[in-house]
This record gives sequence, C-alpha cells and structure tokens, in this order.
Amino acid sequence: MKKHRVLIIGSGGREHALAWKLAQSPELERLYVAPGNAGTEYWNVPISAQDIGALVEFAVNEKIDLTVVGPEDPLSIGVVDAFQEAGLRIFGPSKAAAQLEGSKSFAKMIMQSANIPTAQCQVFEDPIQAKQYIETIGAPCVLKADGLAAGKGVIVAMDLITALQAVDEIMDGSFGSAGKKLLVEEFLEGQEVSLLCFSDGVTALPMVPVQDHKRALDNDLGLNTGGMGTYSPPPIWTTELEATVMHDLVLPSLKIMQEQGTPFVGVLFLGLMLTKQGPKLLEYNVRFGDPETQVVMKRLKSDLLPILWSCTETNLSKVQLNWKEEVAVCVVMAAEGYPITYTKGIPIRLPEESDPDVVVFHAGTGINEGQLVSNGGRVLGITSEGKTLQEAREKAYSLINKIDFPKAHFRRDIGVKGLN
Ligand code: AMP
Repeated sequence: MKKHRVLIIGSGGREHALAWKLAQSPELERLYVAPGNAGTEYWNVPISAQDIGALVEFAVNEKIDLTVVGPEDPLSIGVVDAFQEAGLRIFGPSKAAAQLEGSKSFAKMIMQSANIPTAQCQVFEDPIQAKQYIETIGAPCVLKADGLAAGKGVIVAMDLITALQAVDEIMDGSFGSAGKKLLVEEFLEGQEVSLLCFSDGVTALPMVPVQDHKRALDNDLGLNTGGMGTYSPPPIWTTELEATVMHDLVLPSLKIMQEQGTPFVGVLFLGLMLTKQGPKLLEYNVRFGDPETQVVMKRLKSDLLPILWSCTETNLSKVQLNWKEEVAVCVVMAAEGYPITYTKGIPIRLPEESDPDVVVFHAGTGINEGQLVSNGGRVLGITSEGKTLQEAREKAYSLINKIDFPKAHFRRDIGVKGLN
C-alpha cells in the first residue's frame, strides 16, 4: 500500500478532528498541521493558514501528497489554485467555486438558476432602494451582507424598525467590502439542519446530518457565535428527506457549477431550513463545518484519507461511506465573554484518564511554558458518542465536570432539541 504525506491547513477544532481521524489511517505516512493548536502539537508547523506562498513552498519541500484545507479564508483567496499551479494535490474548491460561500449574491444566483428551493431574495447596492423594498414586503425579513463577515453578516429582523436599521448597520462600512451589496430575503421558518457532502465535482456523497447550536446561551438565546455545539443525527432527519435534498439541492448545485466551468471539489456544506413546504437552502459553505466536523468524524467508520483522495481524482462514485450507529455530541467550551471580549492565556487542566468514547478536540488552545492555555474564544470541543443521545450528552457533560478551565462558558442544552 502506498502511504501518503498529508498537510492540513487551519488551527481550529475542525482541524483537530480531521487530524485525529487522518492519524488513524493505515494509508498515512506523515501528518502536518499548519499552524494547528495545542491538540495537534505533535504535527504542527508554524505557517499561517493565509500564507499561501509559504504553504506551497512547504508542501513542495516536504513532498506532501495531499493537502486538506480547513477554513474558508484560504479557499476564497485561492489556495487551491496556487497548489494546483505548483502541481500539488489539494482537497478543496478553487477560488471561483469558493464564491458559493464568499458571495451570498453569487450563491443565490446559482440557486435561482438551478431552480433550487430557497428563500425569495432581492439584492441591493443602494440603501435607499433596499429600505423602500423592505417597506413594501414588511417584517419579518432577513438581511445579509454579501461577503464573508465571520458569521456576523446576517440579521433576522422580526419588525420593520429593526429591518430598516439593519440596512444601515450592514451598509455603513462596518463590514467593509462584504457590506457593499445587501440581500433582503424572505423569512423562513422550520428546524435547521446542516448536511455536509464530499464532492469530486460530479458525484456527491452525503455525510451524516448535524444540528448546530449557533446562539451563545441556552434555549437559543444570546448572540450568534461560530457554533456552541452539535449533535448527530437529528431525529427530524429521514432517508426520504436525504434523497430529496440530494436530488433537488445537491446534485443541481454540482451540475450548474460544472456547466459554468467551475466544478466544485471539496466539502459542499448545505445549511438547510426544513420548512412545511420541504427543505430549503439557506446557504452554502465550501468546507468542513466547525463544530459539525467534530461529530461527523466521530461517527465516520470509513478511512477518511482515501475518500479525500478520490475526490481529487474524480473517483468518488467508487467510494462507499460507512457510519457508526452511535449518536455523537460535541459541546464547545468557550472563554468567558465569548463571542464579544475574552482574555487568552487562561490555564486549563484536562483529566488524565477519560472515557474512551469521549475525545477532547482543541480549538483555541496553545502551550505557554509547558502549560495548556486558552488562545481563542472557542477553546475545546468535548465530543462523545453513545448508544442514545441522552447517553452521549451525559458522557460529554460528565467529562466537562472534570476539566479545570476557570469561568469556561458552555451551553448545557446541546442536543436537547433532539430529545423532545
Ligand atoms: P446564513 O449565514 O445565511 O446561514 O444565516 C445565518 C443564520 O441566519 C441561519 O443559520 C438562520 O438561523 C438564519 N437565517 C438565514 N436566512 C434565513 C431565512 N431566509 N429565514 C430565516 N432565518 C434565516
């Protein structure tokens, strides 16, 4: 068996989960993570995820066989194109295909051209016209900055005054070029589910469905965050629903990207709203989700490395994915004050012994004089599996009780939606 040298780009919980899974591959010769965190310390190389020139140079010098990109930023600035120009194999979409996440107006144009069920929408470059339109449609409605805004560019306005103020908030320059264009969308109601799919540009294979918890506080209160926890599978999901989503949403997306000459290779992540009229597409992401990846990797039985490899060879149709029956839960432990202001450098002590069904994925962590410390807002992702959702939840929370992380903030209701 030919063994491979693999480089993962990124430093979050998602990248630790990918590294944890790839490290188990019999096809792995050597793993690197750039720049990584304290959880991936053994594999880390000190190169920023944005420093494309240095990443290419490292991959050439170290004879990397496959590079896997975690975050969206390097994708949207063309890391895949740069690697391919240097003759290197990389898993992820090109800069052109990454616009599905980088520009919400581009994504909407693709959805509309492919007849994909989604919220009705108008795009504006002039705030006065946007306000006039909002006054005609009324509230509730949803306002979105066109570009990447670190998860903060979406305002769900339940009344007209909030909606009109949101136009100014998004377009007054605080979002930079991301706020030059504004989308005004129809408000949709339903449960949200994330479906991540491996794609080789032609074929797509769905991963297991996940429900995320975006708000900072229990009962979906508080500010929006990068994600406070996930569980899989949500009981609302069915095989029929999956077939509909693949047929009506995923495959038409791939087909139109292919027809445009920008085939989508990588992880196509669909943010879905399960409405009374059926599943509708809220957004695309063009990479593994964080913290979705933590529960997906926990449940993936198959070897990840050949799956990623076959995506880069347009060979995914020959792959079969196997999943564990167990339910997985990931509870994010964040620093006090997240998502607004928080301090870094808080010392953390993990228990020496732990349940083999629970993995502590690191996100914003570092090492300071030999001591594990926090180094970001979302710090750890306690990821467990159990025969039932209840059991998985108990395992995750019981480990959290043994972690010494002063004033850590975490939600106590991760997965509760699935119990009811
Ligand atoms: P997005 O980044 O487009 O997924 O939006 C972030 C969050 O805003 C979603 O996870 C939803 O909770 C909410 N959202 C986005 N679009 C809509 C919509 N059309 N109707 C209701 N809620 C929405």
